Amino acid sequence: MIQFVNVSKVYPDTDVEALHNVDITIEEGEFVSFIGHSGAGKSTLVKMLLREDRPSEGSILYKGEDINDFSHKEMNLYRQNIGVVFQDFRLLSNKTVFENVAFAMEVAGKPDEIIAEDVPYVLELVDLVDKANNFPHQLSGGEKQRLAIARAIINDPKLLVADEPTGNLDPASTYEVVDILKKINKLGTTVILTTHNTGVVDALKKRVITLEKGSIVRDDPHGSYIISKK
Ligand code: ADP
Repeated sequence: MIQFVNVSKVYPDTDVEALHNVDITIEEGEFVSFIGHSGAGKSTLVKMLLREDRPSEGSILYKGEDINDFSHKEMNLYRQNIGVVFQDFRLLSNKTVFENVAFAMEVAGKPDEIIAEDVPYVLELVDLVDKANNFPHQLSGGEKQRLAIARAIINDPKLLVADEPTGNLDPASTYEVVDILKKINKLGTTVILTTHNTGVVDALKKRVITLEKGSIVRDDPHGSYIISKK
């Protein structure tokens, strides 16, 4: 589904090589975690995947096509297939829980009756039905992240990218978020997660790719990893 073929990224302003010869294949339906210390290259990898930036060398393929050759229209289609969740939630503060999710559907041009049907279903999935009328400032960190996940999956993307989604959360909320990501993956969505939290990948027991200074140092299908002491 997604392939990184010998991807390297040098940031021209600082000459830092953030990714070095990264080669990865991610199949449809997989749950893949990228683990590594701060500065290992996780966010750079996500930026390349979302085409917010381009590799210096190598290519990124989606279903066999190089995403950096996509036309404007193909890029829009590609982005519609990807839901994204960030560490800092990025919710709309003046909209309620329900409206935050509904808005993502309105932007995608979905009709009102589908919105009225789908939003409660997804809020149920992330266990936020009883907070539907709350505003983001009336939610805990874990609830905010569960809302961000609901919004990311409401338009049924093929791929969910979660970039350090538990970075701001306490351990209890972290495990709730991990459980929801697992549930979404079980329902058929491919999940790519980045984290520096070894406890998260231990709990997942899914494929884990360890990044160190921009290089892959381990790719383990069963959730073990090497993470050197700093
Ligand atoms: P992580 O997400 O694992 O913390 P990053 O991908 O953010 O790692 O960073 C990888 C390396 O690239 C670091 O050395 C970082 O300082 C550098 N870097 C990240 N973004 C930029 C940028 N926009 N310009 C220059 N250097 C950057």
